[in-house]
This record gives sequence, C-alpha cells and structure tokens, in this order.
Amino acid sequence: MKTPQNVFYAHGFGKAAPWVDLANSEEWDGFGKRTDHLSDPEWLAAFQKHWKLAPLSHGKSSRLRLLKLRAVLRRAAQKLAAGHGLGAGEISKLNHVLNVPMRQRLVQRQNGWRAELVPAKRDGNWALAEIAASLTQTLAGQDAQRVRICANVDCRWIFHDPTKGGTKRWCNERTCGNRARVRRARAAQKRSA
Ligand SMILES: [Zn+2]
Repeated sequence: MKTPQNVFYAHGFGKAAPWVDLANSEEWDGFGKRTDHLSDPEWLAAFQKHWKLAPLSHGKSSRLRLLKLRAVLRRAAQKLAAGHGLGAGEISKLNHVLNVPMRQRLVQRQNGWRAELVPAKRDGNWALAEIAASLTQTLAGQDAQRVRICANVDCRWIFHDPTKGGTKRWCNERTCGNRARVRRARAAQKRSA
C-alpha cells in the first residue's frame, strides 16, 4: 500500500539519524533530477513520526529554518565524508539551533531518582534542536568516520558505511554502483574502438 510512511521508507529514509534524513530531504534520483521533500507535508509528517520528534510547524519561517539547517548539515556531511572536522561556521550555526530553553525535572525510575532535562516548550524549535543534536551524537561516536556521500555526482545521497574497511562508495550497488560500472565499461569501449 502506498502510504506516506511507505514512501518515506522506500526512498531510504529512517535509517541512520534524523540529521541524515534532513540533509537527504533534497534528493537527486541518480540521473540528476531533484526532489525537495521539505515541501511535502506528508514527508515531513513521516519524518517526524519515525524519529518521534517534537511537532514541526508548517509555517514559512519554520520551513526557512529547516532549509538553513539542511544546508549546514549537508556541508557538515561533506566535511566528514572527506575526513575533516567541522568548521567554526558550522559549529556556531549548530549551537544557535541547539540553544533552546529547557528545564530540569525530578523523575523516579526503577533504579531511583534522577534529574532529567526536558524542553521548556516542545515545539518546532525543539524539533530542530533534536535534529541538530543527532549530528552531535554522530560526532561523539565512531560513526563520524562512517559518513559517506554517494560517489555518483547525480545522486549525492548521504549514508552510513557499515563495512569494516570503510570501502562503500555508492548508496546502492544495484543502482548507483551499477551505473558507474556501465559508464566505465562504455568509456573503455570508446577508448578501444
Ligand atoms: Zn547514489
């Protein structure tokens, strides 16, 4: 059945982290055709539901902030994929998004009491902060070295490389990988002709 959720998963979203999905929400189909999922309210709803984010507002200013964050995340992914760290510009923009009011609350869990940080307001700004925070989780763990951008320049899909040697070049062997092989074979044929 074709539901918004299914479309979300069929396109390969919902795998690595919220920040990866937002960065990939500007999607190229491998032949250079671009789809902007941010302008699709159903994609946004599926994205929010999958990652259990705070409600994303639909207004113009909210869309603008998502677009801005997406640009920062794409740049961050490019740097990570090239084996570099983030620049001061990206860090300051991320810190700006992360700067949302929160408060502490005492909660009783099975193993005792603890203080938890909760949002002062669980709104669109909080959702943006959650997305930005998911990048900091990638940066803090081993995963920063596994961020890749598909080598097909007409695709540029950001993905997480699960291989030991970090050798995965294409988002998908059958589509982008295969296209690259066909291209190479054609070029070789031309040379030998
Ligand atoms: Zn690809």
